[in-house]
Amino acid sequence: MKPLQLYNTLTRTKESFTPIFKDRVGLYTCGPTVYNFAHIGNLRTYIFEDILKRVLSYNGFTVRHVMNITDVGHLTGDRDMGEDKMESGARREGLSAWEIAEFYTQAFRSDMARLNILEPDIWCKATDTIEDQIALVRTLEEKGYTYRTSDGIYFDTSRFADYDKLSRQNREALQEGARVEKNLQKRNPTDFALWKFSPQGVQRQMEWESPWGVGFPGWHIECSAMSMKYLQDQLDIHCGGTDHIDVHHTNEIAQSEAATGKRFFNFWMHGEFLNIAGGKKMAKSDDNFLTLENAFIKQGIDPLAYRYAAFLSHYRKPMEYSDESMTAATNGLRHLRNQVRRLAEGGPVALAPDHEFKMRFLEETNDDLNMPRAMAVVQELIRADLPDGVKLATVMEFDRSVLGLELDRPVAEENLPDAIRAMGQQRLEARADKDWAKSDRLRDELQALGYTVQDDKDGMKIFKE
Ligand code: AMP
Ligand code: ZN
Repeated sequence: MKPLQLYNTLTRTKESFTPIFKDRVGLYTCGPTVYNFAHIGNLRTYIFEDILKRVLSYNGFTVRHVMNITDVGHLTGDRDMGEDKMESGARREGLSAWEIAEFYTQAFRSDMARLNILEPDIWCKATDTIEDQIALVRTLEEKGYTYRTSDGIYFDTSRFADYDKLSRQNREALQEGARVEKNLQKRNPTDFALWKFSPQGVQRQMEWESPWGVGFPGWHIECSAMSMKYLQDQLDIHCGGTDHIDVHHTNEIAQSEAATGKRFFNFWMHGEFLNIAGGKKMAKSDDNFLTLENAFIKQGIDPLAYRYAAFLSHYRKPMEYSDESMTAATNGLRHLRNQVRRLAEGGPVALAPDHEFKMRFLEETNDDLNMPRAMAVVQELIRADLPDGVKLATVMEFDRSVLGLELDRPVAEENLPDAIRAMGQQRLEARADKDWAKSDRLRDELQALGYTVQDDKDGMKIFKE
């Protein structure tokens, strides 16, 4: 079997994946900032990470997955300027920052469940690990990496020689990007806050005592503190969206490696964006972003159609959202479920999956999670010259382990056009009269119109292909 190959942003190559400890994998995925609903772009990234985790498990690794909940310190500007997103979200909703954190965390978990994204082994909230974050900042201070300005304690990026190793941008380019948000007290534009002081005269809802004064942690320090706390030396893979490469993950690496003197995560993996028409990134700061609720559930569309849609683009390629592409995905998933249902009609499910197809499927998933090609293998399997029961066992193993599309879910009879319903009624009458020729003819006619007819013990069901 082909060993698992993953694209590592750190080396810009596909590498064979080997964990630090034999068959155990430590996985850290940057979680949501819970000041609003996740949009379907965020959810694309979590689907990619879910596939990664499931493929690791399917390869026999035992995965320990940690995901953080950012419930403090993520400012409206990624570079330590602007307002805390939690505090502004709380004002928008007329609730406390703690209340909106709880509300949007639950909303996020429900989105995950609806997309069959497996929950992490450990959820951790930034506000639950303030002590650990303060301890890490103290270590950096003792080692001479920090300095104080009027608004906080900053990390001096010029003291960390490898600062640009993840972004591969030279320091000048990174500094140019950072200059957009002016903070004249910073020694270098790329320097970032480890601890921010509560502004004078402003009562923040979330603030803590610290050796430097009352305030709150900078955004990046939480992920360093929590990944080290919960994964310890098992720092195998760290993920997020591509927007995290230049700032958030670059800063996490700098502060962690400066503090420990050891390499912080071997593999860095990043999912490309979901874009809307014209190649524009879907972003929470645009108020018209799409959620799972408004784009799928309210429209009566199965949210797993979005999971299916996400498989049709490789995670390192941009994915474009349009009504047409989602309709195509909805039809594609329905068609696949119909195909699986027909396999189930062909006899009992086999005890074991087909070995050759399993190897072919793994070959694609193990090639840097190539889901478009893995889905093509599923189609080949369904058409293959094998007993239906074997095909069913194989496709359902893929579904339970990696795909998570509930391919054997009974599909409710959908709103059928009256003419189709009438043909169905005529067919039922023909069967009652034991007029099998007429019944078969009606079945063929329905098939030609794009409908699948399924006879079962409860009567007959008609599905749109
Ligand atoms: P946030 O809740 O804003 O911290 O983002 C959560 C995750 O979604 C991060 O890993 C981001 O990199 C990712 N993300 C943000 N926007 C998009 C997008 N349009 N498409 C895919 N992933 C995104
Ligand atoms: Zn993070």
